[in-house]
Amino acid sequence: MPERIKILGVPLDLVDMKGALVTADNLINGSANSNCVLAVNPEKIIALHQDEWLLDFFRKAALLIPDGIGAVWAARTLSGAKVGRVPGADLMQNLCALAAKKGYKVFFYGAKEEVSAGAVDILEQRYPGLEVVGRRNGFVQPTEMDALVNQINASGAQILFIALGSPRQEKWVAQYGVRLQVKLIQGIGGTLDTITGHVKRAPEFWQRFNLEWFYRLINEPKRITRQIKLPVFSLMVIKQKFFSR
Ligand code: UDP
Repeated sequence: MPERIKILGVPLDLVDMKGALVTADNLINGSANSNCVLAVNPEKIIALHQDEWLLDFFRKAALLIPDGIGAVWAARTLSGAKVGRVPGADLMQNLCALAAKKGYKVFFYGAKEEVSAGAVDILEQRYPGLEVVGRRNGFVQPTEMDALVNQINASGAQILFIALGSPRQEKWVAQYGVRLQVKLIQGIGGTLDTITGHVKRAPEFWQRFNLEWFYRLINEPKRITRQIKLPVFSLMVIKQKFFSR
């Protein structure tokens, strides 16, 4: 398992994409069920500061990936650690490729019906051999949850991608995870919406220069309340580096 450090009290695993995939593969082949893979980014780190329950849930996760340049920068600044970006959206697709290659079955839970259906179509085309053994949109009623858990278990899926947004997806896993027989659960937030194009991900150029956050800001100005957390986060990291012992 990769080394785990803390950024402003929030745990983060020192992995790059290759390491994340090796860890995920080991977890899929291990004996424990419901191993959680969660994404750590500045927005999440700030949210975790305000939510003790969520922070505790993250602490118990099997793999905490440095989801974006903010987390990578903070890890390098605070611990000098060698760490690479592992965007959750890319890890998900790489896990689909791994699943197609190794015959792991996958299940998708979350997002709007047309997004869920469209994303599964796209992924099945993109990764020939990918066995999607089930999918449900993210608007299942509480009374149907037992049936959903049974459906996931009966599907024989080893990997569950859960796309309810945070902290909804973590709360769901906390409640139902113990009953699941899947090996790996990745929280993927709004990733399916980016696959279908319902929400735009930054083009290559912006990603290469680590400006994905800026692209999203100009395309969805209402994200300003979310993005404003970035400078706050930077200041917190700088304060910890230079002013705490
Ligand atoms: N969503 C859902 N059920 C709900 C509320 C939201 O499936 O009851 C889905 C929504 O359709 C979207 C995702 O959860 O696909 C939320 O994406 P967001 O970008 O807000 O999540 P984040 O990546 O920021 O955690």
